[in-house]
Amino acid sequence: MIDTNLIELIKSENAEVCLDEPMTQHTSFRIGGNADCFCEVKSVEALRKIILLCKQYHVDYFILGLGSNLLVSDDGIRGLVIKLGGEFNEITSLEDNMVRCGAGATLAGLCVYARKMSLGGLEFAWGIPGSAGGAVYMNAGAYGGEIKDVVVSSRYMDKDGNIYLCNGLEHDFSYRHSFYSDKDYIILDAVFRLVPKDQEEINDRMQELMNRRRTKQPTNHPSAGSIFKRPEGYYAAALIEECGLKGCTIGGAQVSPKHSGFIVNEGGATAADVKALIRHIQKEVYEQKGVELCCEVKFIG
Ligand SMILES: Cc1cc2nc3c(=O)[nH]c(=O)nc-3n(C[C@H](O)[C@H](O)[C@H](O)COP(=O)(O)OP(=O)(O)OC[C@H]3O[C@@H](n4cnc5c(N)ncnc54)[C@H](O)[C@@H]3O)c2cc1C
Repeated sequence: MIDTNLIELIKSENAEVCLDEPMTQHTSFRIGGNADCFCEVKSVEALRKIILLCKQYHVDYFILGLGSNLLVSDDGIRGLVIKLGGEFNEITSLEDNMVRCGAGATLAGLCVYARKMSLGGLEFAWGIPGSAGGAVYMNAGAYGGEIKDVVVSSRYMDKDGNIYLCNGLEHDFSYRHSFYSDKDYIILDAVFRLVPKDQEEINDRMQELMNRRRTKQPTNHPSAGSIFKRPEGYYAAALIEECGLKGCTIGGAQVSPKHSGFIVNEGGATAADVKALIRHIQKEVYEQKGVELCCEVKFIG
């Protein structure tokens, strides 16, 4: 339970607050129990005040992007879930073909903005259903491109409300990893360096990649994308398929018959169903192939 004084103080920061908020509404998997308290924060100043209040009231907080890489526990999330809205959705052009994007903006919105400005470099990200902040945190990538190829700098806030700049190599990007991985910093925004490119060319590439996605991935079923990281020298989906696990189902969770690297929520899946299916896949792939599969999806709550 969250102190009612704290809730009132958060509300006074012009933040939208919901109590007992179902995380099924905020995750692409459509899975998860309730968050004690959920709020959408609209400015850097309000964010600073709210996290300082959390510190004062000894309440944990979790920064949610678009929830497209999360498996939230059936018991939900204790404390405060913070979503970045308002000014965190802003995208602006800078000099030298650079674009600053708030962490709460969608990657899709950023791709559309870049196309409108005839700036290439982000086409690979079209179809990745996350926020700009989530993409930097995860070093999201697809079809030969990664966020690391385009990020110049990012700004973040620590638990005491201090703001820092992270530059270039300091991001420590590697496969689905960044400087931010497993830290409790809040990414505020990032600057991307793009290249002038013909709008039609950008559009053609975006459509081509989206078509590939739609053909190969179960894009019309709730999921969190690839459930496992790509193991060195292998493809997770191929290993899973070779182990006879395509279509394997536990409760409402199923190894997608379309793409074995995805677990889909076939309706009413619980986080426990998904975790049981993950463990089963890991065990079979290890026993049959000797390969350890590590999760890309983040377990929360
Ligand atoms: C159908 C589908 C297809 C996908 N395809 C791809 C793909 O091709 N390539 C790929 O890389 N991924 C893919 N994903 C996974 C997912 O979209 C990416 O990992 C994405 O970058 C996650 O962003 P998000 O905003 O949804 O983050 P969330 O899932 O909300 O959060 C992920 C992590 O980032 C942290 N985080 C988010 N925002 C911030 C912030 N502002 N400050 C600090 N921490 C933050 C969260 O706390 C959490 O730890 C796919 C997912 C789906 C459902």
